Amino acid sequence: MTRLEDLLTASAERSPGSTALIGPDGTETLTYAELEATTNRIARALVDRGVAPGDRVGVLAAKTPWTIASLIGTLKAGAVYVPVDSASPATRVARIIRSAEPSVLLADATATTLVDGLVAEGLTDLMVGSLEAPLTGERFTSAFSRDEVAALEPTRPGVGKDALAHLLFTSGSTGIPKGVMITHDMVSAFVDWALGHFGTKPGDRISGHPPLHFDLSTFDIYATLAAGAELHLVPASLGLDARKTAAFIRDRELTQWFSVPSVLTYLARFDAVAEHDFPALERLLWCGEVLPTPILAHWMRKLPHVRFTNLYGPTEATIASSYYDVPAVPADESVPVPIGVPCAGESLLVLDEGAPAPVGGIGELYIGGVGLSPGYWRDQEKTDAAFVTGPDGERIYRTGDLARTDDDGVVHFLGRTDSQIKSRGYRIELGEVETAVNTVSGVKECAVVGVDLGGFEGTTICCAYSVAEGASLPVNDMRRAVGALVPRYMVPAKWLVLDELPKNVNGKIDRPVLRERFRPAPKESE
Ligand code: AMP
Repeated sequence: MTRLEDLLTASAERSPGSTALIGPDGTETLTYAELEATTNRIARALVDRGVAPGDRVGVLAAKTPWTIASLIGTLKAGAVYVPVDSASPATRVARIIRSAEPSVLLADATATTLVDGLVAEGLTDLMVGSLEAPLTGERFTSAFSRDEVAALEPTRPGVGKDALAHLLFTSGSTGIPKGVMITHDMVSAFVDWALGHFGTKPGDRISGHPPLHFDLSTFDIYATLAAGAELHLVPASLGLDARKTAAFIRDRELTQWFSVPSVLTYLARFDAVAEHDFPALERLLWCGEVLPTPILAHWMRKLPHVRFTNLYGPTEATIASSYYDVPAVPADESVPVPIGVPCAGESLLVLDEGAPAPVGGIGELYIGGVGLSPGYWRDQEKTDAAFVTGPDGERIYRTGDLARTDDDGVVHFLGRTDSQIKSRGYRIELGEVETAVNTVSGVKECAVVGVDLGGFEGTTICCAYSVAEGASLPVNDMRRAVGALVPRYMVPAKWLVLDELPKNVNGKIDRPVLRERFRPAPKESE
């Protein structure tokens, strides 16, 4: 199977002068030849600092051409990159770093405060390489800066290789993020299928919207490099501005847009897309959560020249495992869009108590095939719980999703069996949020539930808590305390302070009752 860094090298040999990466502001660009040389130099810098095949390299940096180069440079050093959300609080990032044990952390100026925070968390033996000017810090070792990297030989160092390409940490229900191991083979199998299915070609202008710690971004990067296309990195700040996002698609003349559905919902609700807008756009893809059918219909009516595809899949079976090309504007907007049929080499199984569910029967969705991860980083117990043996003795991943297969073999997503939710595309275990709330001093009891309030972001995170006797814990203090423990997107949006949490007959917190408490009361006339 192809190694991911070789996808770049092959395109650089074919068309060295073509543009590969364009930064968020449109000024910083790298051609294929420049990207090839830069990644070789970064690999050399890492090898010179003692990074060996299989070692981890943490990446705490904004999404820029040089950051992407550092990911591929890491692969060329035979090592494994770990992109970390630099907007997360230091406590959470420190947990990830302790688990991944990177030999080097690559950081940029956006991560300076975070790196200081990591040192304050007790990570005093960090070796930090800078992708810009040297980072100044007295308490960590400065490995190298961009200028030093730029002075190195532009040829690839000869090193061994590791099957792993990167670790992606996702929310963990017990409060500890889980590191999903992603191999070169998993990604390249999907890229192979996607290039054939979508017909990606040299010169295509492809969006790079998701953050680098999301597995969706690996599709953008490696499919672009394999095709010899251009990757246009979307500024993180655009996420909240529908008109600027639409202008970005228009001005960059993108041929492919790929994002989580909430972005498409924003643009539709703010009516930011005109009739026959984006004349260069050929395809629009989404993945990660349900795209409401009325929003899809809105887009399809506005852009009749575009192909629309729903991609489905968890990080554990990178990048997507199934697809559904929407054949026409949905006639009935109350019917959800199917998640479709397996991509090449993948299989979807709907099982009811371990046996295949009959056609139309609801069951739990399992995935098998070429996209499957070897498991969770250094966590055999969680790996064994999630990666199990299927009816034919094959290895399969238990998604926690409910599904049914229709008469045509098309799979339909029906929700979750557990308390994992999606909010603005982020995968969140409510247990992780609950663990954080419970650690705030003064909390007697708490419950975190997801409620669909019909907003833009998908499920809204809601928290009810009671306060220990003698303690005072107003919502504002609570929000601040939780914000120091989990990323902003995990901080509950709605709060209720109760004397006592509602209990069911078994004495457990009654979550369905709580969910109702968060729903707005119906209007008088209803
Ligand atoms: P992640 O690992 O962040 O990709 O999250 C995986 C989970 O997101 C899946 O198990 C589903 O619950 C949900 N998901 C992913 N893609 C879709 C989709 N196209 N439609 C509905 N839910 C999806």
